[in-house]
Amino acid sequence: MKNTNEELDMNIKRVCPCCESLTNQELVKNTEEYKVRNELILAESSFYVCSVCENEIEDDSVTDPLVEVYRKYRDIKGYIHPHQLVEFRQKYDLTQKELSHMLGFGAVTLSRYENGSLQTDSHNISLEMAMQPNSLKMLVERNQPIFSKDKLEALLTSLEKECENLYCGSSNEISRQLSKSKINEFSGYSELQVLKLIELIIFMCSFGGTLKTKLNKLLFYSDFYAFKESTRSMTGLQYVHLPYGPVPDNFDFVYAQLLKEGVLCKEEISYPNGYFGENYVSNRDVDLTMFNENEKSILELVQAKFQNYSSKEITDYSHEEMAYKETVLSEVISYKFSEDLSDLQ
Ligand SMILES: [Zn+2]
Repeated sequence: MKNTNEELDMNIKRVCPCCESLTNQELVKNTEEYKVRNELILAESSFYVCSVCENEIEDDSVTDPLVEVYRKYRDIKGYIHPHQLVEFRQKYDLTQKELSHMLGFGAVTLSRYENGSLQTDSHNISLEMAMQPNSLKMLVERNQPIFSKDKLEALLTSLEKECENLYCGSSNEISRQLSKSKINEFSGYSELQVLKLIELIIFMCSFGGTLKTKLNKLLFYSDFYAFKESTRSMTGLQYVHLPYGPVPDNFDFVYAQLLKEGVLCKEEISYPNGYFGENYVSNRDVDLTMFNENEKSILELVQAKFQNYSSKEITDYSHEEMAYKETVLSEVISYKFSEDLSDLQ
């Protein structure tokens, strides 16, 4: 029974625009290939065929197939969809004019995107960035004159609150992923302090950015020098002996989380030898209120000491430390080795 119904649904009886008589017309579905910016997308199209003259008749009930084609393309590319763009703008009560002004592209362009036009790759990057509360706050701050006083105040207040929540969220996420080590020689006799870890990373990425391999070493030196001076690590983080030197526990997750939340952004740097590096740059100012004076001075000394070291140079340097020489692959490094660290100054 079900089949019969479906078949009935597929066929209609109406006047054929070709032979101009009342005929049965069968719905035919077809899969077609569309090329969108070098990407082949399959989408379904449908039309009717007249049982008398056998001409193809347009199916008025379907929307433009390009709507579906672009939807699929956006999914493949991870692009923002038009409805998400509209929702984002409405959430902050931003007009098309305001948002497009902050992003530096025309209001007409933004309006076309919201109505289904396919965004360019670079516009998609700008939009994604703007959708992160941290970055949006920065954009609003830079473009204060385009808002009325009341609107500006309301916007900044709500963004401020959102960034704070996000910040708590991010520290919770990171806490869940990092090893809950006991307070012992491997944590530097400190409890894991994720908020401090985040600020430490932001600090080290504030000076034009830092490559990932180098960042790992800067964290190691900050924590280990702090331990050397005060027998307490700064963050309570564990470090592991890996081929490129000592690295923080689960660092890939930590950085990915901070990138995802817009605390850091990533620049790909390509070298003449074809090698690619990931340069991490802070998206906001560092907040060092959680660090004591001794820790602050260590941060500054570590940053200054290694400022001009390449990733390779700092890796080679770290390989000479007892903390590295006296441990084996995958071993968690005891903070007791900080006694033998090379001099900081
Ligand atoms: Zn016909």
